[in-house]
Amino acid sequence: MNKVLRRSILVTGANKGIGYGIIEKLLSGSVPYDIILTSRDVTRGEKAVSTLQSKYSKSPSTLAYHQLEVTEDKSIESLVSWVEKTFGGKLDVLVNNAGIAASDASAESARLVIKTNFSSVVKTTEKFLPLLSGDGKILQISSMMGQLVGQDQALRKILERDNLTKEELNKTADDFDKVVKIDSAFTSYCGSKALLNKYVRSILPKELKPNQQLYAIHPGWVRTDMGGSGGQYSIEEGADTPVYLINLPFEKNNKLDGKFIFNRQVVKW
Ligand code: NAP
Repeated sequence: MNKVLRRSILVTGANKGIGYGIIEKLLSGSVPYDIILTSRDVTRGEKAVSTLQSKYSKSPSTLAYHQLEVTEDKSIESLVSWVEKTFGGKLDVLVNNAGIAASDASAESARLVIKTNFSSVVKTTEKFLPLLSGDGKILQISSMMGQLVGQDQALRKILERDNLTKEELNKTADDFDKVVKIDSAFTSYCGSKALLNKYVRSILPKELKPNQQLYAIHPGWVRTDMGGSGGQYSIEEGADTPVYLINLPFEKNNKLDGKFIFNRQVVKW
């Protein structure tokens, strides 16, 4: 019998919320994948894995676990080398989903939000690039709150520059609390996703192989711990677009590749 070609998929911050929802939807589907659930807390992650494994014991996909604290370089490196050893040196889909909201308008809180939602995504992506298969996909879970139109004027001016370099983008993130006037807890969250969108739009495409695919995604306002109970969408609905993009053929999609996607459609940066 031919060995089934299983694509491998790794999701960050997947012990709950949209990340968990993405994995649940993949496990309940008919396409066989090798799925890796990661979380910063081992107990929470392993509990999520065992719940999903018993619920989807008949799934054609497999589910494995590894710890990942996205803000720690060592944690990213240990995950990368585990994936390299366990999955034959390659990864087919990287879903950078882990994220936080700011607790207040302080510079300290802003720094943690920018580090978690932007700088750690850049690091995780760059560390996994050598393992990403030639037709692999990267999904960056962003937010409509990162649209340019809603940003602080100074940040918007920087992000609108067509020739902005990777170094300048990273420096803007490092100096965020000096560049931007932080007037609410939303400022840094919105800014972190605007920085991420710029990375997807202008920087990362230059580092990809011709057939690798890249998407920034707004999942909708989803009822999770972050989104709160008033959100418009269930977790399952929030997972729809990411899973739709994962299930698309592993080839450049002329309409969607490199774009910002919400409800399976392209939206404005
Ligand atoms: P959530 O329920 O709060 O889940 C966030 C996940 O990220 C949790 O698993 C959390 O782990 C993990 N995480 C946070 N910091 C981490 C770190 N330093 N290292 C590793 N994992 C970390 O939030 P969600 O609503 O599912 O959000 C998922 C993504 O969707 C985020 O990027 C968010 O910005 C985006 N998004 C959400 C909405 C919405 O309405 N919910 C809208 C637009 C975009 P712990 O359980 O250990 O905290």
